[in-house]
Amino acid sequence: MMTADSSAIPPVIALEDVSVVFGGKVRALDGVSLHLHRGEIVGLVGESGSGKSTLCRTLMGLGEPTSGTVTVDGEPLGARLARDRLGFRREVQMLLQDAVASLSPRMRVRKLVEEPLDVHRLPLEDGRARIEVLLKRLGLPANAMEKFPHQLSGGQARRVAILRALVLRSQVIVADEPTAGLDVSVQGELLNLMLDLHAEFTLTYLIVSHNLNVIRRITTRSVVMYLGQVVEEASTAALFRTPAHPYTAALLSTNPVVDPAKRRKRIVLHGEIPSPINLPSGCRFHTRCPRAAARCAQEVPQLRSVGEGQSVRCHFPLTDDMVAA
Ligand code: SF4
Repeated sequence: MMTADSSAIPPVIALEDVSVVFGGKVRALDGVSLHLHRGEIVGLVGESGSGKSTLCRTLMGLGEPTSGTVTVDGEPLGARLARDRLGFRREVQMLLQDAVASLSPRMRVRKLVEEPLDVHRLPLEDGRARIEVLLKRLGLPANAMEKFPHQLSGGQARRVAILRALVLRSQVIVADEPTAGLDVSVQGELLNLMLDLHAEFTLTYLIVSHNLNVIRRITTRSVVMYLGQVVEEASTAALFRTPAHPYTAALLSTNPVVDPAKRRKRIVLHGEIPSPINLPSGCRFHTRCPRAAARCAQEVPQLRSVGEGQSVRCHFPLTDDMVAA
């Protein structure tokens, strides 16, 4: 877990002012900086089209930034890949949203979990012993090894995907919608398991999710993206308690909350997220923002601090209202 002085330790992965432009005109990422510290659990939030997938691909070395830098333990990612591509692939793994589809349909689980050992040229016997231990640790039944992916439940398929990462002793796990499509009770079990594994193996998680209850439950820091930019970053507790960006507030207002006393007034955003080919002037959110003023369409807001560990890209952050009140 991130502690007060963790920021003194170099991040395991750092994006600095990263932009990704496709075909010279689609600005998928624009000046994004993100530091992932070892042992942290960071949430990444935003609608489809906000740049989350491009950020994950860039962070994993699956796409090159147009500008800016990506480093791994202080080393440029390109250099790390050139020096030890397989080692980096072992260390950083992605759990895809559709866990069943991400597993080869023609392979039994036994083959699926042993395959990474082969790819990474690791000793099979040691790996098999580790698989046996992890199988139990992940709560998978012994007969799961003989099943094909379509015979697994959604929760079991995710556990197999996690097992494939842990058998390689991966340290950083990027999880895309880890609980999508699961029943609420299975979601809870999986999140508890992920938290236990995080503590046990000192894992670092980047959790990408539309489900804000997942973000709230599991992450310690959250990053909100809109149209290729980070619009707010804060500790997850601060983000949920006092969102500073109107977009964050709108997202939180649609989050289902059981306790009626804790429900927020719903903020309806009109229109779709604009095209990254034709970006709005000034603040990119001004075409949908309930607080937009004339300045917003003209002047680009910069990311600025509004409290300890909380920064926002807005001329009129909601936290200003609290100071004025
Ligand atoms: S800068 Fe203006 S349009 Fe943009 S989020 Fe803030 S208030 Fe809304």
